[in-house]
Amino acid sequence: MSILVYTESEKGKLKKTALEVVSYAKAIADQMGTTVTAVAVNADNAESLGNYGAAKVLSVKNDALNKFNAKAYAAVIEQAAKQEGAKVVVVSSSADSKYLAPLLAVGLEAGYVSNVVEAPSSTSPFVVKRSVFTNKAFANTEITTDVKVVGLSNNSFGLVESGGTASVEDFSPSLPDSGVTVESVDKATDKVSIADAEIVVSGGRGLKGPENWGMIEELAEVLGAATACSKPVSDLGWRPHSEHVGQTGKPVASNLYIAIGISGAIQHLAGINSSKVKVVINTDPEAPFFKAADYGVVGDAFEVVPKLIEKLKAF
Ligand code: FAD
Repeated sequence: MSILVYTESEKGKLKKTALEVVSYAKAIADQMGTTVTAVAVNADNAESLGNYGAAKVLSVKNDALNKFNAKAYAAVIEQAAKQEGAKVVVVSSSADSKYLAPLLAVGLEAGYVSNVVEAPSSTSPFVVKRSVFTNKAFANTEITTDVKVVGLSNNSFGLVESGGTASVEDFSPSLPDSGVTVESVDKATDKVSIADAEIVVSGGRGLKGPENWGMIEELAEVLGAATACSKPVSDLGWRPHSEHVGQTGKPVASNLYIAIGISGAIQHLAGINSSKVKVVINTDPEAPFFKAADYGVVGDAFEVVPKLIEKLKAF
């Protein structure tokens, strides 16, 4: 019996969430006196998962899995879980994992709890803390089924390096007939994806037009950040829809979220509530975002942002 983890990768590179779910699973495994087995699909560097607590990696190499397909991926993880006799399966809270987790739970006859933010306080009973109402509250939920599927909120547990090593085994599960294939469009820039970004620089309608996004991109470049935007900005075609964050867009769980010319409407805040530190730059001191922010600058973005870039470059 081990704890099984599905570790996501993109173009062969393990995502930060992959390292986080393994770190999280290791904390549960230590409580239960067992080990962590990771499933990695077409990942190049699977053995590195040992450093975050995986004792074993089941490495799947199959071109048919190059594009995400929830049915196929759920089948892969289900077979791995059954082979390992896993009682707990951990996935991330990415769009792909949220899509496959219910299918996996059905296949394993397991209870599934999403948006989990902490390791369980007790593994008997198995009680997990999850965020609810767009991170405005938390609920403790007991999973009573024999097998449990846990969806960990991104950037909630963090990365814990244990310095261990993992054995890597080839794993060749059978794949079901293909259903719908979903291609994830997750790149905000060619460099950093919103889901994996430590820092996100986001612009709103206060920036007046797409021609003014040069300074947003430059600030993001200096900080090694991803760029994002409010919904009206992507609706107006100023930025691609893949950058839209909020209730109807992507969730952001970065360590730092810088909102520039964004009012802070409830639907926008719903998507960024789980970011750790929020900084707002807005001309209007009454903008609702200031109530949700950790730091605020009341000022004109066209004056503040260039100065910020200048200071950061000199740093
Ligand atoms: P505005 O509300 O126009 O705010 C612009 C801000 O820029 C103002 O606060 C202004 O003071 C400031 N500003 C102006 N000039 C400057 C300057 N020179 N320097 C600095 N600041 C300046 N929105 C989302 O973002 N994400 C969602 O997922 C989302 N989902 C929605 C779902 C539903 C069902 C509905 C009804 C709405 C949704 N919205 C969403 C829209 C949301 O309600 C707001 O309308 C939207 O977030 C406002 O975007 P904004 O802050 O960029 O623009």
